Amino acid sequence: MVLKKVKPFGYCKGVNFAIQSLHKIIKQFPNKQIHLINLITHNRKTNKELLKNKNVFFHEGKDRKKIIENILKKTKNRKKLLFILPAHGTDPQVIKFIKENKCQYYDFTCGYIKFMINKIKNALVENYEVYFYGKNNHPETQCIKDTFGKKLNVFWQKKDLKSNNHKKFVVCQTTTNYQDFLQIKKWFVNAVFEDTICGFCKQKQKQACNLKNSKNSIIVISDAKSNNGIVLFKLLKTNNKYVYLLPPNLTKPIKIKKTNKIYVFTSSSVSKQQANIVLEKQFKSLA
Ligand code: SF4
Repeated sequence: MVLKKVKPFGYCKGVNFAIQSLHKIIKQFPNKQIHLINLITHNRKTNKELLKNKNVFFHEGKDRKKIIENILKKTKNRKKLLFILPAHGTDPQVIKFIKENKCQYYDFTCGYIKFMINKIKNALVENYEVYFYGKNNHPETQCIKDTFGKKLNVFWQKKDLKSNNHKKFVVCQTTTNYQDFLQIKKWFVNAVFEDTICGFCKQKQKQACNLKNSKNSIIVISDAKSNNGIVLFKLLKTNNKYVYLLPPNLTKPIKIKKTNKIYVFTSSSVSKQQANIVLEKQFKSLA
């Protein structure tokens, strides 16, 4: 049996940059309170490891301004505070609020998300009615909603769409299934589509499509909350028989069909090292 690790194996560039930078910040500022405003990445194992540092704190919630307000209320010395804003993006009003309160912060919004935000801004300037195709409870969608408010329409189903003759501009969450994005084109009569799926997700989805009708087993290592990991898993599952989702914090091996080759995918928020540990644990049952 040969194990085929599908490349890129491990974190995507956006998550890798955020995690590596955060490790440096933790070393550089041992006396600061480092507050993660929402998950740095969709990987509970990574977050748990980060929280082993006594000066790192984690806050989850939709209203990021409120979270920061509460932290400020509880802190006498604001110079001790350091805020970390995640790869999924943060509303500029929240950043403004941090600056007004003269606190230190690092914004790790991924370049692909910044690119998509600029596309939306330009389309609004050109007087388009802008639509964002994204999962309602996902942090990236939350960032887009908070940033643009009523100027933008967020949709996930056909029924969420307004029907009028205004010129429309459609973008999507960076981790969307490309095939779904093609399908939603049918929901619009007259619209400009800008595919804003990130390079990492597109590459992985393409590789998943190339494995159509494989007789081999396929593993996806991903947290159940990672959108790109779940998109990949569902895509593979539609076209193949033996597809398995393994969490990065796998404790017990699961039953996997033994085949000549086993393909292994990782989501963007699982590191190479974490994936190798999962495989080591899993392989004991395959030997
Ligand atoms: S999955 Fe794509 S958009 Fe999200 S952080 Fe990684 S590279 Fe950026």
